[in-house]
Amino acid sequence: MADSQHSLISAPVCIIGGGPAGLMAAEVLAEAGQAVHLFDAMPSLGRKFLLAGIGGMNITHSEDKHAFIQRYRAEHAWVEGWLNQFDAQSVRDWAQGLGIATFVGSSGRVFPEDMKAAPLLRAWLQRLRTMGVKIHTRSRWLGWDAQGMLRIATVDGEQQVQASAVLLALGGGSWPRLGSDAAWWPILEQQGVAVSALQASNCGFEVAAWSAIFTEKYAGAPVKNCALSVAGQAFRQGEWVITSTGVEGSLVYALSADIRQQMSVHGRCTILLDCLPHKTLAQVHAALEKPQGKKTLKKHLQAQLGLEGVKVALLRECAPANCFNDMQQLAQWIKALPIELLRARPLAEAISTAGGVCASMLDQGLMLKIKPGVFCAGEMLDWDAPTGGYLLTACLASGFVAGHGMLDWLAAERTADQLV
Ligand SMILES: Cc1cc2nc3c(=O)[nH]c(=O)nc-3n(C[C@H](O)[C@H](O)[C@H](O)COP(=O)(O)OP(=O)(O)OC[C@H]3O[C@@H](n4cnc5c(N)ncnc54)[C@H](O)[C@@H]3O)c2cc1C
Repeated sequence: MADSQHSLISAPVCIIGGGPAGLMAAEVLAEAGQAVHLFDAMPSLGRKFLLAGIGGMNITHSEDKHAFIQRYRAEHAWVEGWLNQFDAQSVRDWAQGLGIATFVGSSGRVFPEDMKAAPLLRAWLQRLRTMGVKIHTRSRWLGWDAQGMLRIATVDGEQQVQASAVLLALGGGSWPRLGSDAAWWPILEQQGVAVSALQASNCGFEVAAWSAIFTEKYAGAPVKNCALSVAGQAFRQGEWVITSTGVEGSLVYALSADIRQQMSVHGRCTILLDCLPHKTLAQVHAALEKPQGKKTLKKHLQAQLGLEGVKVALLRECAPANCFNDMQQLAQWIKALPIELLRARPLAEAISTAGGVCASMLDQGLMLKIKPGVFCAGEMLDWDAPTGGYLLTACLASGFVAGHGMLDWLAAERTADQLV
């Protein structure tokens, strides 16, 4: 970067944001021979991608296409358009092309063979550099100036960048310390772009208050072999975790969109916990009615049903005290224990962000209809999905589509110039 204040550089094809969506678009454009400049606010690229790798990166999912697409809920038709161009198999082929083999885990999720993101990102950045992509780190996009130039803040002062086509791939608003801080939201809103409010997704939720004794003993404890349900929907089995303020973990994340929806209507949401999903209500009741003898109820629950530890503590926490004298009632609470959730944990802690640039603002190539030459991709778009590889797949696919959209736009502009 030049070191004068407000210097002007010309970079015909610009990508702002070096997460999976921006990097995929950079690859498409560089492969087509474009000179690509990629700007990112952080000192290094793909920080959230690397974080995703820490718990064993789940890059896509192996389920059939129909089920896969339904994961994007209300926006499934929009995302389907991207997945038709770059689907789960494309993700696996692309990773393989970078020398990273993938495998399907027992849950159907697809992981890199070493479960890590770092080797994949390293190989990817190496390939992009070899293709000639110019990477500018510590370069924060601030918006546009009065002449329509991109304003980029660098350590050497503000730069104006003249671009024929620009992709904004700035991420959502979770984990802002990794770079995606959603500072783009008011900038785009001011430009007249319809952007829906950003909300935490795949996130934890708060209860009114666990008792001090419960929190002290069980914060951080996993609740295994159980099922949860929201708003009369079918129970889903899995595992979740007690936190000092409420609940989190994979099963809670999977239900987070439904919980959010309930909260938006009722201001709160009651989830039901089935402590023994492999037993019917009648079986639980029959077991409880067996003679207790001199055993305490705690020992009786353990002996007859294998119920102990955190599940019994949850019953004590959430069921009415008088149910413990009535085995019929207790069986019902064991099969459907209500846990009242008040609010989502803050967006900064969430795995992903719901909300963002609305589908109606973008054409099929993901160009903003009211800002020709400006494209958007990745988690900053208004779609949502559970964890399970669906997030990265949609980010990569939208980056792929936006990259091709930019190529089409540049070709159309060239043709128009020749005609003048
Ligand atoms: C803990 C955790 C675990 C996850 N695990 C998985 C998983 O296993 N599987 C899965 O599918 N998904 C997972 N995800 C989600 C996935 O990582 C994200 O959906 C994905 O990284 C989003 O990609 P993106 O390119 O849209 O944005 P990001 O990856 O957020 O990248 C955006 C980039 O834009 C840059 N930027 C932002 N604003 C500016 C600006 N003004 N100027 C310049 N640069 C800017 C940022 O620095 C950042 O580099 C996980 C997320 C988290 C937090």
